[in-house]
Amino acid sequence: MVWRLLSNLTTKMVIIVMTIHLFFINILYFGLGAVVEDGYQSQFIDYVRADAANLAANISGGKNLTSRINMQALDNAILTGQTLFLRILDDKNEVIELVGNTESRSSFIEDFKFGDGDSNIYHIAAQLYDNNEHDIGTLQIGYDESLTQEQIDIAYRRCLFLSLLYALLSFTATVFFGQRITKPIQSLQSLTRTIAHGQYHTKIAIGTSVKEIKALASSIEHMREELVNQANSMEHLALHDGLTSLPNRRFLQDRVEQVINSRQLHFQSNVLMVIDLDRFKEINDSFGHLIGDNVLQKSARRLLDTLRKSDTIARLGGDEFAIFLPNTSMDAAITLANKLVSELSREFECEGHMVSIGASIGLAGYPYDGLRYEDLLRLADIAMYVAKRSGEHVRSYHADLDHDALKRLTLISDLKIGINNNQLFATYQPKINMLNERLSGVELLVRWQHPTKGTVPPDEFIAEAERGGLISALTQWVLREGIKQAALWHQKGWNIPVAINLSPKNLIEKGLYQSIVQLLEEYKLPPHLLELEITESSMFVDPIKANEVLNSLDKQGIKLAIDDFGTGYSSLVQLRKMPVSVLKIDRSFVDRMYQDSSNAAIVSATIFMAHELGMTVVAEGVEDNDTLSKLKELKCDVAQGHLFSKSMIADDFEHWFSKAPHACSPPAQHVNPKLIKD
Ligand code: C2E
Ligand code: CA
Ligand code: CA
Repeated sequence: MVWRLLSNLTTKMVIIVMTIHLFFINILYFGLGAVVEDGYQSQFIDYVRADAANLAANISGGKNLTSRINMQALDNAILTGQTLFLRILDDKNEVIELVGNTESRSSFIEDFKFGDGDSNIYHIAAQLYDNNEHDIGTLQIGYDESLTQEQIDIAYRRCLFLSLLYALLSFTATVFFGQRITKPIQSLQSLTRTIAHGQYHTKIAIGTSVKEIKALASSIEHMREELVNQANSMEHLALHDGLTSLPNRRFLQDRVEQVINSRQLHFQSNVLMVIDLDRFKEINDSFGHLIGDNVLQKSARRLLDTLRKSDTIARLGGDEFAIFLPNTSMDAAITLANKLVSELSREFECEGHMVSIGASIGLAGYPYDGLRYEDLLRLADIAMYVAKRSGEHVRSYHADLDHDALKRLTLISDLKIGINNNQLFATYQPKINMLNERLSGVELLVRWQHPTKGTVPPDEFIAEAERGGLISALTQWVLREGIKQAALWHQKGWNIPVAINLSPKNLIEKGLYQSIVQLLEEYKLPPHLLELEITESSMFVDPIKANEVLNSLDKQGIKLAIDDFGTGYSSLVQLRKMPVSVLKIDRSFVDRMYQDSSNAAIVSATIFMAHELGMTVVAEGVEDNDTLSKLKELKCDVAQGHLFSKSMIADDFEHWFSKAPHACSPPAQHVNPKLIKD
């Protein structure tokens, strides 16, 4: 507290100024006092000397001293108050006259200075002479010093008062001027603090005449303005799309919610429309991104020019736009939508090319179709999807719109939520090495715990995820989950390779390889404990790119397997060019292999040729012992199927692994577990 006070600028100034002034105050007090004292004393001495001389002259002159004494004059002298006593002595020093009170002091000693002796009496003696200038006696007078002393004391008190007044004035002045400097600095300080806390919308105005502080204040104001500008542009960026400068999804949502939450508009009709450009993808692919971007910008312009001020248009992403029409009937909105379609169907001129696109628009109305922004957007999206598929261009949402489309779109939008909200979970199906009957690894099979539909199998959502653009997010989730689990087992000393299914689209999308390598590093999983299953169709879309990715993965030491072999059109010869080391024969061939000789022949030939190519063969869908024996006969390496176990969540798998009828002990490092107890 004291230290804080001492470090205060005003306190420091006061201390310095007051220390300097202490010196002047001393001079003022003692110097002035001394001068005044001196003055009073000399005045007193002059007076008493003159008075004594005067009295002596009055008495001197006659022969007879006694006759010269004028008692009246002496009494008068006493009565003036200044004279305490008068004593006349003859030439023999005999007292011949005494007026007033002599003090007890017996001998009379003349004082030379004011205040000599220990009484308040100034002793003075004057010689008395006769007419012939002969000494005839002495006049001794005692003057009262106390009056003068009192005046001196008063003078000193005044000096003290003046000094204190001076000190007080200089203290006040210093505090005043100190405050004038520090107050604006303190205000600036607190303003900068509020700016630092993000409240930078109030202008900085500091009343000061100090030039330096003014300059400081204006620099801070400048900084504040910059911050405001930056914040504004950041806000703009956060709420707008960079390419078209249109508001983005967030902005649209804010706007829609603001309108539907405001009471007075509660019963008015508002419409949300979703616009999807037709043929945009083809234009982007054949003319390139530059023209693609240009088409998007020009489309945005045309849409914007057709709208009212109160409407809100936003770019949702890609070639999708949305428009919110407050206080608009559905009929009016449909009319507008048709106008927008014809606007967008006019050719665009882009960098010398004439480009023609179109648009499909879906509309959903508040409050009759939905009450929340998300619902309106979802329903308008469904309507748009139906419009696109039917080629109608404009379609408003209706509950009995194509049921399938609705189901699909709902599934996609649910899945999007599901992936982000951890509704997916991993199950693991064991793969058994047929030679030593030990566990050779597991395959991760994803499940979706839908909040209302229960557990959804992958066959019902993987294909939709691929179509709906969610496969990348889904695969990322599965990869992380599988690698995390494999790493956990690895830490336990269980080296169980985990196989993860990839979709064809995954292989050609950017960043797959990097994200796998990153995940392996993050969870510290040795690459040989990760296996990736791809289907033959993975190679059809972009064989060069796919091969590139597979080679990089192979170089990392990650095992690659061809899944569902036999269902595609690739031959084993084609496979030879790919860095795959495992071949999984599809369930459809293994199933009923025992009864169906042609299936058995295919399986047999496949196993033989795969071995020739140095690949390991896994048979999928092994459900019975007969099939298992047949596969053993054909020298199939690994079997997977319900005969051993269905897929299980990790906990159940661990339980199965240690306690199953074929009880197995946890595998030692780098050794597969023996499935059947010795
Ligand atoms: P798949 O990769 O061929 O997986 C094997 C499928 O056969 C699994 O079905 C498995 O439960 C089932 N199965 C295994 N043994 C038997 C058996 O003895 N008899 C019968 N009848 N079926 C058996 P599931 O889990 O429904 O997976 C279906 C497909 O979904 C998978 O086929 C795979 O293509 C895909 N899938 C599963 N998980 C993922 C994933 O994480 N990512 C991707 N991209 N696809 C996945
Ligand atoms: Ca698989
Ligand atoms: Ca398969």
